Amino acid sequence: MRTGKAAVWKGKFHIDIEQLPIPEVADDGLLLKNEASGICGTDGHLIEQDPPYPAIMCHEIAGRIEKMGAHANKSLNVYGGPVKEGDRIVLYPWITCGKCEGCRTHRPGTCTTCADSFVYGVPYSMLGLGGAEPINSRVNEAPYFKGGFAEYTYVFPETYVWKIPDDMPSEIAVLMDPMAVAVRAIEMAQTSPGIVEEGLNTNSKVVIIGAGQVGILAAAYIRALGAEQIIMAGSRTDRLRVSKELGQVDEVIDIHRVSPADRIKQVQDMTGGGANVVIQCANSVKAFGEGLEMLARLGTLIEVGNMVNQGETIAIDPAKMICAKHARILGMSANNPQSFNRAFNFLKRHKTIPFHKIYSHRTDLDGLLDTLKQKGNDDYVKGLVVHS
Ligand SMILES: [Zn+2]
Ligand SMILES: [Zn+2]
Repeated sequence: MRTGKAAVWKGKFHIDIEQLPIPEVADDGLLLKNEASGICGTDGHLIEQDPPYPAIMCHEIAGRIEKMGAHANKSLNVYGGPVKEGDRIVLYPWITCGKCEGCRTHRPGTCTTCADSFVYGVPYSMLGLGGAEPINSRVNEAPYFKGGFAEYTYVFPETYVWKIPDDMPSEIAVLMDPMAVAVRAIEMAQTSPGIVEEGLNTNSKVVIIGAGQVGILAAAYIRALGAEQIIMAGSRTDRLRVSKELGQVDEVIDIHRVSPADRIKQVQDMTGGGANVVIQCANSVKAFGEGLEMLARLGTLIEVGNMVNQGETIAIDPAKMICAKHARILGMSANNPQSFNRAFNFLKRHKTIPFHKIYSHRTDLDGLLDTLKQKGNDDYVKGLVVHS
């Protein structure tokens, strides 16, 4: 029996490297030989918990098609296809049912709106959707390879995939996932030009809070769209350096060196009265309050960072901070394959942007757990599993 290597997540900071059987490929699926598997903030959050059953993490997956079912070009949603064995693809991690009220209302593929979703690399009960598990993530049930931290990934029907052009490295293609979060957040900040509540445009002074992967990629995207000024408020020297090199931000504020009151004042001074757009990408409820303080009148704040902090609260003054400011505040957690497509095209066409600099840590499967443990270190920006 042919086997492939997998990093099997069995408990809190517990991963075993195992050999799994290489599955049969059905007519409507395909088997990917993984080339690049991105380590997301989600994986860092998951490894701190016990899984409901042994599973393989990772939803940022790019690889080469090893074996392909006869009808896979029809059963999958292929951008830039058709694809054939030997081609490289990158995938959108959510599979939605396409039939439920959420899918009918918000279009099939839109994540977090379909209760019957499957996500590569995330066991169903950890999605918090409350529906029925459409495909299980159990590592001991065929087709075994259901997450990216392994030698292979089995790609199920209805998955959205993109054919990767020859001149695009897999490690850049796999950034489509965090890039799509940034793209969606920025698109939410845009409004029609000329309306009173002008959103992001070439006049805008922008503050990004949180120099993690989404914040840095958001800066690069805003720079390409055009903005008057981009200020990054974040921590850790290496992240701020990458914010400048990759994200092309104008100014950085190191939040570990400047007090909250002083950084609000710094933003007021640098922008001449506040930021027109704040993209809040830090995993902190206090950062939301700070973002509101940094916002100019008639400004727009997009809240991206607080996905896992349910139950934590802060006090705000709505009369002053929201009403008098005429603030536009938009929360974000849903995304769709169309945003991923725009993210993919951005990564594909902007070859002069040094996207590879986002990877502070590269590892093979054997070193994965050790890399996950380093996520809080000063020099950590984003990790990547490279497969030989
Ligand atoms: Zn991700
Ligand atoms: Zn659905």
